[in-house]
Amino acid sequence: MSKSRRLSEQWFGRGLWLVALAFAACLVGFGSLLIEDLPQVERQVQRDELIDASAAKPLRSVIDEARRTETASAEALDQASLKLQAAQKAYANARDAFANWLETRKATNLPSQDNELIARTTALDALKAAQGDAQRRVDAQNQVTLDAQQAEQAAQDKLNILETEADRRLEAVNSEAELRVFGYRLALTLPLLGIAGWLFKTKRKSSWWPFTWGFIFFALYTFFVELVPYLPSYGGYVQYGVGLVVTVLVGRGVIVALNGYLARQKLAEEQPDTLRRNELDYDTALTRLAKNVCPGCERPVDLKSDLIEFCPHCGIGLFNRCERCETRKSAFSPFCQTCGTRAVAAPGSA
Ligand SMILES: [Zn+2]
Ligand SMILES: [Zn+2]
Repeated sequence: MSKSRRLSEQWFGRGLWLVALAFAACLVGFGSLLIEDLPQVERQVQRDELIDASAAKPLRSVIDEARRTETASAEALDQASLKLQAAQKAYANARDAFANWLETRKATNLPSQDNELIARTTALDALKAAQGDAQRRVDAQNQVTLDAQQAEQAAQDKLNILETEADRRLEAVNSEAELRVFGYRLALTLPLLGIAGWLFKTKRKSSWWPFTWGFIFFALYTFFVELVPYLPSYGGYVQYGVGLVVTVLVGRGVIVALNGYLARQKLAEEQPDTLRRNELDYDTALTRLAKNVCPGCERPVDLKSDLIEFCPHCGIGLFNRCERCETRKSAFSPFCQTCGTRAVAAPGSA
């Protein structure tokens, strides 16, 4: 991935970055489908599976029985109430009629009517008794309803205790399942991060680098973005913890690389001028010259000045003269720009 000066190579490089991004996008899509489908490996547990069935079943049948009794009793009560109303009305009518008849009898005072008096009184008593019977039937029906309601309430209270217990168990089972599913997701995504780290360490400069970088983007995105909606309450700790480890590892790598670079640079600056130029990659030297820095030590140099022949910082030769025509030329050019003679000590000629 050296910064080439060749135009086509630059365009190839850009194209390969597109390949890396496309590769990452495809992997991300694939991974998100996989992560989304994961909950299906866990069966959803229902509350009824966790309730104490041997205790709940009799209670439920008691409740059902009581409800049936209440319904039947309500219908019977309606009937009994209607009959009571009818009996009350019949008795009231008969009593009024008797009262009228009695008034008439007092006025006429016929002894022959004594038998009728007895008959009428008996009939009125019978009506009164019928009304009392109807009232008792209504009362009995009310008692049946009340008994059924109380039995239902008692059974329901016991069932509620069982259901609360089952709810607590269900919560525990669900949070266990959530933990397991998070574990599966972690077991899938964490190794990706590990592989990405290994690829970064060993393969990022190989000629297959677009796939390496594509995979690294995919692993980072999957772990730090795609996992977020599926995190349980404590999932953030795991994510930030892994993030910290990754940051520390990358930071450590950068610091080690910087120190290594500085040490190498220091060593290189102690080498003879010609050897240093020979060891420099031609493209690297051109890139650095274009940025107006010394190709040897990467410190700023005024390359346009005619007076500068050597780097004032590290002493590397920046300009020399053609061995044939004596033209002043860049020490890094492999050919003289005036006569085309090949320079002896040019980069890469070692
Ligand atoms: Zn220098
Ligand atoms: Zn020349």
